[in-house]
Amino acid sequence: MSFHKLAIIGYGKIAQDQHIPAIQDSAAFELTAVTSGHAKTIPGVGRVFTEDVEMYSGAPEINCVAICSSPGQRFATARRALLAGKHVLLEKPPAATLGKARALAALAKHKGLTLFATWHARENPAVAEAARRLQGEQVSQLTVTWKEDVRKWHPGQEWVWSAGGFGVFDPGINALSIVTAILPAAVFVQSAKLSIPSNRQSPIAVELGFGSEPPGDSLTAVFDWRQTGPQTWDVEVRTRSGSTLLLTGGGAKLEVDGQEVQTPPAREYPDLYARFAELLDRGESDVDLRPFELVADAYLCGEREQVDAFSF
Ligand code: NAP
Repeated sequence: MSFHKLAIIGYGKIAQDQHIPAIQDSAAFELTAVTSGHAKTIPGVGRVFTEDVEMYSGAPEINCVAICSSPGQRFATARRALLAGKHVLLEKPPAATLGKARALAALAKHKGLTLFATWHARENPAVAEAARRLQGEQVSQLTVTWKEDVRKWHPGQEWVWSAGGFGVFDPGINALSIVTAILPAAVFVQSAKLSIPSNRQSPIAVELGFGSEPPGDSLTAVFDWRQTGPQTWDVEVRTRSGSTLLLTGGGAKLEVDGQEVQTPPAREYPDLYARFAELLDRGESDVDLRPFELVADAYLCGEREQVDAFSF
């Protein structure tokens, strides 16, 4: 395994909660620098730059970056990194639009660099186990329930409400990353209802109906950011052969027909960095845009309803 000098771009909630601890625990990466528009010093991080371009000239030994900023800036930031010859790990979603994500994949290929569009929820071992058990099965029902409290998980984050901010699709795309990883057949968006607060650009709740080939009986998803109290991140799948698989906790736990299946503990971000190291060693990229396509199609065909204004 090679050793890499990595920089984080964007020092927000996810960089602090997940990326920095995962990198500090990894034998494959050294956290060489962070770029942040607002933080001037960061505990345990030797070098903090204000701008990525300043970092590329000031710390040329950095060979890869993890982009943890909000999705609106991601394309320009990732493009500059690739043009500077750096391998890139992208937080989810990979860009603000599908076209931008595809352009980044093409640029990485052209430059011979690794681009890793991460889907952290997929790293749960229970998700891989569910996918293995569903191979060769036909799905009759899919019920996704993804309900959380936006004030808890996105405190004060105005960007999630802007056009291109994804709204409740920001967590919902995690559910779609699981669905596209475990179902044996591709699903597509059949119907969508987007509930948008009167003072915002992005939905606070979404209902989706899916089609598939072969068709299922009922394939649905509900995402809602208005849930207080217990949070719900469940994916339930019923098969034509009569089994019911239930993933709970965002993919952390799997039950089959009511019995818990023992899987290794969830370690999403350490495992993401282990996979990034493998991709770097193999000189490969991993850019799966299927979850993002479902979000884009929901926007294309979705009905809009205006709901109560939202403030933090
Ligand atoms: P965030 O906390 O709002 O951070 C986004 C950017 O805002 C940061 O990169 C930072 O840029 C800037 N920022 C953060 N705190 C600031 C402050 N106090 N003052 C001024 N600027 C500040 O967003 P996030 O939750 O980390 O989300 C970033 C990405 O991670 C999103 O794509 C999201 O989908 C993904 N993600 C989030 C979570 C979660 O639980 N929040 C989970 C998984 C994935 P600068 O450092 O350049 O100033």
